[in-house]
Amino acid sequence: MTTDWDVGALMEVMARDLRPLIDPEQAAMIGIFTGGVWLARALHAALGLQQPLGRVDISFYRDDFSQIGLHPQVRASDIPFAVDGRDIILVDDVLYTGRTVRAAMNEIFDYGRPARILLAVLVDRGGHELPVAADVAALRLIATAGEHIKLRGPDPLRLELEQREPQ
Ligand code: 5GP
Ligand code: MG
Repeated sequence: MTTDWDVGALMEVMARDLRPLIDPEQAAMIGIFTGGVWLARALHAALGLQQPLGRVDISFYRDDFSQIGLHPQVRASDIPFAVDGRDIILVDDVLYTGRTVRAAMNEIFDYGRPARILLAVLVDRGGHELPVAADVAALRLIATAGEHIKLRGPDPLRLELEQREPQ
């Protein structure tokens, strides 16, 4: 059995839940490349944010030196506004272990001290390994390690929970 969701409707839920939390004149948004960037673009427009959209690019590499595991590392970032004292909405498509968000927050702090960082995701799939929680999540579910949330589309854009092929 597969279950799927309408991404347009999920994005509307995110915008609705974010709106009362922010001041569009002051707040700024950062999308996590790649999945968070198209989403951030749509939300940035829906919320009418005045600051230009930022992005961070975090890639995973496998560190076989200490132990096998995936370690997120910042590859590139473009943060075209002053971070100090600002409310920042960090946007990604899926929250899983929380390691990507931690890496993104480290990067943001290299630019200054934000007043507040809000995390907004389409899907919180559970399985957190760090104390990271989404302030806004259009969908919260518990996916197993063998499951993957897949974006299908673009017309219509759907999210699907699928069994991942064993590797
Ligand atoms: P984390 O660092 O929290 O373990 O993983 C989150 C990052 O990995 C996000 O940037 C997200 O794009 C990607 N990710 C993790 N799990 C999934 C999933 O089930 N589906 C998709 N599409 N991306 C995922
Ligand atoms: Mg990603």
